[in-house]
Amino acid sequence: MKECTFCKIYKERKGIIYENENFFARFDRFPVSPGHTEVIPKRHFASFFDLNKQEWENFKPAISEVIETIEKTDLKKVYQGFIDQPLNEKSADFCKKILELDYINKKPDAYNIGLNEGEAAGRTIDHLHIHIIPRHFGDVEDYIGGIRHIIPGMGNYRK
Ligand SMILES: [Zn+2]
Repeated sequence: MKECTFCKIYKERKGIIYENENFFARFDRFPVSPGHTEVIPKRHFASFFDLNKQEWENFKPAISEVIETIEKTDLKKVYQGFIDQPLNEKSADFCKKILELDYINKKPDAYNIGLNEGEAAGRTIDHLHIHIIPRHFGDVEDYIGGIRHIIPGMGNYRK
């Protein structure tokens, strides 16, 4: 059986940028935006609804402190590193696109925070992970609707 990707990352302590008692975080290797991070429970389970009481208590501080960490990090250096030692070609392409953005090291204007709860919602790794996606004015043509855009064409309720 293939070892769980996130359990392996935690065991090998690869690219961990933050941890508390119950969670750790790393930069996504296929970043949607500069600083795109995954917050991951140390315990292996798939569903958000299986967070126990202690994990739930440590969840909010993990999110807040990861955001502080993202804002303090030199992201140019991070993605250059990911290009120099690429996970694969696709990951290198994603990181190159991010490096070209002129707002790469600017403090984000906003965040999308979300998770894919179940396969039909897009989950591909059965170990809970919460995406933190920094956002900037101008990163998309029209930001109205935010995560509503996961169903193409249904995001913008104003137009
Ligand atoms: Zn796991």
